[in-house]
Amino acid sequence: MAIRVTGYTATGLVVWHDEGGHGGALTWAQLAATFRDGIALTVPCPQAGCGAVSVYPVAGGCDPDAMQELFVRVYLRLKQGGATDRAAAVALVRQAVAAMDGAGRAVVAQ
Ligand SMILES: [Zn+2]
Repeated sequence: MAIRVTGYTATGLVVWHDEGGHGGALTWAQLAATFRDGIALTVPCPQAGCGAVSVYPVAGGCDPDAMQELFVRVYLRLKQGGATDRAAAVALVRQAVAAMDGAGRAVVAQ
């Protein structure tokens, strides 16, 4: 499963790198730098010297629940598509997921 989100902090998120057996914290700025067109995020492993990354489509790839939630939080922080509150961010993420993979793949809720 590579690098996945396990929680959130005041300044960002906590990830775990399955294959590496390690994890750590990422800041929103580190993550925002990898955000592309509202539809992809590259999550880097925070462990020094590891260098691994996981690329996730907005639909969430192998981890739709956790990753769609992450996209909602990124949309909100970056005001992607004009999202200024959670409801708008969720609606935009669900729309992006539906456009990519079909409406049945949208799992994130308010
Ligand atoms: Zn790693």
